[in-house]
Amino acid sequence: MFRLFTSSGRRHSAIRRNVLPFLAGGIPSGWLIRQRPPVVIHPFYHTVSDEYLPHIHPLYRPLGRRAFEWDLDFLSRRFEAVTAGEVYRSPDNPGSRTRHAFHLSFDDGLRGVYENALPLLLRKGIPATIFINSDFTDNRQLFYRHKTALLTDKLDRTSEAVQNEAKNRIRRALQTNVRSLRAAIHALPHFRQDLLDELACLLEVDFGEYLKTRRPYLATDELREMQRKGFTIGAHSINHLPFPLLDGKEQLRQTLESCAFVRDTFREPVAYFSFPFSENGIPASFFDAIAGKVDLCFGTSGINSRYGGRLLGRIDMEQNGRNAREAIHKAFLRTQRLSRFCIFGKQSPCA
Ligand SMILES: [Zn+2]
Repeated sequence: MFRLFTSSGRRHSAIRRNVLPFLAGGIPSGWLIRQRPPVVIHPFYHTVSDEYLPHIHPLYRPLGRRAFEWDLDFLSRRFEAVTAGEVYRSPDNPGSRTRHAFHLSFDDGLRGVYENALPLLLRKGIPATIFINSDFTDNRQLFYRHKTALLTDKLDRTSEAVQNEAKNRIRRALQTNVRSLRAAIHALPHFRQDLLDELACLLEVDFGEYLKTRRPYLATDELREMQRKGFTIGAHSINHLPFPLLDGKEQLRQTLESCAFVRDTFREPVAYFSFPFSENGIPASFFDAIAGKVDLCFGTSGINSRYGGRLLGRIDMEQNGRNAREAIHKAFLRTQRLSRFCIFGKQSPCA
């Protein structure tokens, strides 16, 4: 039971804080979805795993096979599964669709998609697009965020003396205070790969060995096999640098070279690109510059379509609630401008 209030201001803010989230969360998902004319939504994941993954779990928690299957069943009940090609060939025009649809995708080209998601998707007849980073394919290089995850994963098994030395090195290199070593490693910027490698030496983490023995990313032959089974391959940049922080020239290079890699390696007839981290702040001139070379782009900003349908928003299914029902509910609430009252999850695109 809520306390009664002594002033109208406090009463109003308490209603917003307590009552409205409760009410918004209680709106039936089916009703909420039906309020919109039929649309294609684009849910995306990174990987599926029942095991602890040292390069992933310190960053975010992927779904296990059972939870992923629950999500697929939820999506299939309410939406028709479509391929990237169907999305490309039939851009959403108001009134052109009779049923809501979903186009599923995975970012970062992780091998768990092949091992754990693929069998479920094949059994249920759900197609998907796999967005890959050209430098990581075949486990040639490790994503810098996955390096930070491996380093923090090792901290619990590292002596206090070594941890103190690691703090000192970060303090000296970045001229900053280091209260929490874990937080400091997580926050290391992409342009300090030298420091990541130095810390790996100190903490006795072997990135090369990890790539060789754990093979975190998909191999070309695994991707080709998925392609033969009806899946689509798209590009997700060369090496997953934080896109909004790059200058325009580097944004273009990351986009065009990775799309060329996918085209040359997999002979995909349509060039799809998903922005690493976020599409925030990408100017219209970027889309003019890639016109004719990249056919369709995907972001992380929910249910929306921008730049004349050339940029489609997607729903981050791992960061927006406990399951697909909550993530989809939240995404549809946002389209109704009710999201500020929503109780589910947090908004944090990409890890
Ligand atoms: Zn990514």
